[in-house]
Amino acid sequence: MISVDEHLARILSIVSPLSALDLGLLDAQGCYLDEDVVAPAPLPGFDNSAMDGYAVRAADLAGGLPVVLPVVGDVAAGPASPLRVQPGLCVRIMTGASLPVGADAVVPLEMTDGGVRHVRIDQAVEPGAYIRRAGEDVAAGDTVLAKGTALGSAQIGLAAAVGRSRVLVRPRPRVVVVSTGSELVEPGTRLGPGQIVDANSFALTAAAIEAGALAYRVGIVPDEPRTLLSTLEDQLVRADVLITSGGVSVGAYDVVKEVLSRIGTVQFDKVAMQPGMPQGFGTIGPDSTPVFGLPGNPVSALVSFEVFVRPALRKMIGAEPWERPRVTAVTTQALSSGQGKRSFLRVHLAVRKGAYVVTPVSGSGSHLLAGMARANALVVVPEEVEHVAAGEAVTVLLLERRAR
Ligand code: AMP
Ligand code: MG
Repeated sequence: MISVDEHLARILSIVSPLSALDLGLLDAQGCYLDEDVVAPAPLPGFDNSAMDGYAVRAADLAGGLPVVLPVVGDVAAGPASPLRVQPGLCVRIMTGASLPVGADAVVPLEMTDGGVRHVRIDQAVEPGAYIRRAGEDVAAGDTVLAKGTALGSAQIGLAAAVGRSRVLVRPRPRVVVVSTGSELVEPGTRLGPGQIVDANSFALTAAAIEAGALAYRVGIVPDEPRTLLSTLEDQLVRADVLITSGGVSVGAYDVVKEVLSRIGTVQFDKVAMQPGMPQGFGTIGPDSTPVFGLPGNPVSALVSFEVFVRPALRKMIGAEPWERPRVTAVTTQALSSGQGKRSFLRVHLAVRKGAYVVTPVSGSGSHLLAGMARANALVVVPEEVEHVAAGEAVTVLLLERRAR
């Protein structure tokens, strides 16, 4: 038996970040930069108006109000020949338009009668009022996005604003998911005796996508060594990672163990955890592609994904940290855990009176998929702890998966 930490350390020592790729900005959403993005020019690029109104010389409004000024021109956002504001005159200006030479403030439309040839101004403004200064957001030469930054909507907008249509990022790992089991059929199939629906390949493909991967569900492979081997070999060309479920324990038809033990560097271990004890991991094929042999019980498969596969995928995509956020919460019910094993208990996390509380949503059976689907977090009970009393503090891994 090895510990969770030993197994994870072995995995993380073998997988490495994928080579960087130049991607179109929107294709890079959710990816991590492998370069600094530097602004070649300031933002805003020129002094411009923050409001629709009138570009004035503030001194012209200092001698008593209201003031009526002749309007000598109009300037909208967009290219225009530069205008000049002489003392005692003004120019009608729109939001985002370049500030005319000579003007030092903008009077918003709301403070005027809105006149076109002459305008009556009812309120004074300070010099500089309602002007967006060149460079007040970003100076030329600023690193606006550092290497390692995750590209969400605001970061993508900023990259575009400084002129980038492409960026260098770590690509999303391509993950191929295979379920093994001669009892498995596709959802919607009428079940014969002993048959069950393949839930794992759907759950694991979805989990890989949630982790930022490009995931392909290959589906069901029966418990036949030759079929499994040829399926895996066929999939190697498009996979950065392979995931199988089922067939890793000690049963007579545990075909994943049988096939993968013979090729590559795959190793099968008993890991001191609950659920998810049997685990296979190693590399196969000409490119040493990492392969995870996860257990077949649906909860074991998903928890194993959380604990081992997700960190590996996050490392490959260049994310740091690899782990889910952890918080401390109080359990509303007593919890128990197998001796010497790290338990991952399915719970619902809520905030009560400003503090995190967790309530178990499922028994401990690794086949209880409905309980897993009600959970929005996992309580981690350490190896040396067997009982946790109601009211005690526990460590909680926050899942993204939605729960009621
Ligand atoms: P195994 O690890 O192959 O012995 O499978 C353990 C248990 O999980 C058995 O009850 C299987 O029927 C079940 N199981 C295996 N694969 C899947 C799957 N893809 N979807 C749902 N249940 C599965
Ligand atoms: Mg099986």
